[in-house]
Amino acid sequence: MIGLKKQMVKMKLSSHQQVMDKFQQLKKVEQLDAAAMKSTQEAQLTKLLEHAYAHTDYYRKLFAEHGVMAGGKIRLDRFERLPFLTKEIMRDEFEGLKSDDLASRSWYENTSGGSTGFQAKFLQDNVYKDWAQANKVLFDEWSGRGIGDKQIRLWGSVRDLLVGKETWRTQAGRWLRNEIWLNAYNMTADRIGEYVNTINRFKPVHILSYVESIYELARYIRQKGIRVHSPRGIMTTAGVLTPEMREMIESTFNTRVFNRYGSREVGDIACECDKHEGLHISEYTHYVEIVRDDGSLAEPGEIGHIAVTQLMNYAMPLIRYRIGDMGAMAEHRCSCGRPQRMLREVTGRESDTFYTPGGGKVHGTYFTQIFYPEQWIKQYQVVQEQVDEIEVKIVCEEGATALTSRKDSLDVIKSSIKRAMGDTCRITFTFADHIPATASGKYRYTISKVDPSKLADADKDSREPVGIG
Ligand SMILES: [Zn+2]
Repeated sequence: MIGLKKQMVKMKLSSHQQVMDKFQQLKKVEQLDAAAMKSTQEAQLTKLLEHAYAHTDYYRKLFAEHGVMAGGKIRLDRFERLPFLTKEIMRDEFEGLKSDDLASRSWYENTSGGSTGFQAKFLQDNVYKDWAQANKVLFDEWSGRGIGDKQIRLWGSVRDLLVGKETWRTQAGRWLRNEIWLNAYNMTADRIGEYVNTINRFKPVHILSYVESIYELARYIRQKGIRVHSPRGIMTTAGVLTPEMREMIESTFNTRVFNRYGSREVGDIACECDKHEGLHISEYTHYVEIVRDDGSLAEPGEIGHIAVTQLMNYAMPLIRYRIGDMGAMAEHRCSCGRPQRMLREVTGRESDTFYTPGGGKVHGTYFTQIFYPEQWIKQYQVVQEQVDEIEVKIVCEEGATALTSRKDSLDVIKSSIKRAMGDTCRITFTFADHIPATASGKYRYTISKVDPSKLADADKDSREPVGIG
């Protein structure tokens, strides 16, 4: 028994060392200039493509078909000819995507959050996991948390409902790492009050939270007029952080917010540095493209679909994976001097984008601007049921009475929605006590159930998106 324990401690330490080595390597990459960063990343990408060609049936066939492997060499200039990978393809081509050398690799199976209907299954190398962890350590450092510094996590989705019920081993691990986890799911007023007390008692250097959860906490603190401990940084993730939300969280906690972007399939992709000019992409571990509806590359600043190639996972390579989110590349380099390119913003899920009867597009952030001034509204969700039909779900703040007494506000909301969606759009309001988050823990402000592929092709892409400034 003691031998086993010793063995486990040894394994833990060696894994920790692996992560630290990779963290140091990522720090070295930060010293490169932009040109060296680009060539280093291209070398990483080439290596992955060579592996994918040699070891997976799916990519071998695709690379040959599209000339990405020609004359025994990888042609990066033809990379953009490759079709995108989707969750559906991952499910249908699972066997063909698996590397044929798994017997000699150390790997595990993982699944996606599944907020889009079904869960995708995929394989990841243990080495990939170390890289993912190293990125977390790096991003933590950017946002003010050194190794071992106290952190509070406002975390836990329906899927991870175990928060607070874990084994002593998990809890001991957190205690060792100086972390306290608070369940972010279904935060009641009582619970929020306790969380504020915990923050004031523990005095964390760093808070990591879902966007929506820390925003809700900040609103509560303001309403009650209570004092709260100010951490060195707050890292938000898994949701769209609007400028209004950022401002509110920052002024409540008297600190800076650092937005981080990632997913279960490819790990953390990008994070803000202390200049807050955009989200630096971890370009040593991820190759990111922003693409238009027709698959062509978008210009910097132009909102499109995010496609990610994970450069460190060989057990099941994910190449040009359309993650389901929309975003834009930054038009400028960051003034911090780091060589990694930046995402200017992540605007949300693809299904946050609404389509008008006239064929225009309206991004979800348009609606968040409408609701921000309405302080009587605690939670809302705008759902496009059909192309000309929108349902607005509203949860009122305590004491606010519904519908009739708020007629003026509702009229303003209605006309703002019509301004973007067109006069023929029918808008209904419904009131609820609570709007739950999705199974993956993300809270959705906007959901479109309209399938753009079923709209008339003629005018689908003919208009500029509305509401992005
Ligand atoms: Zn920077």
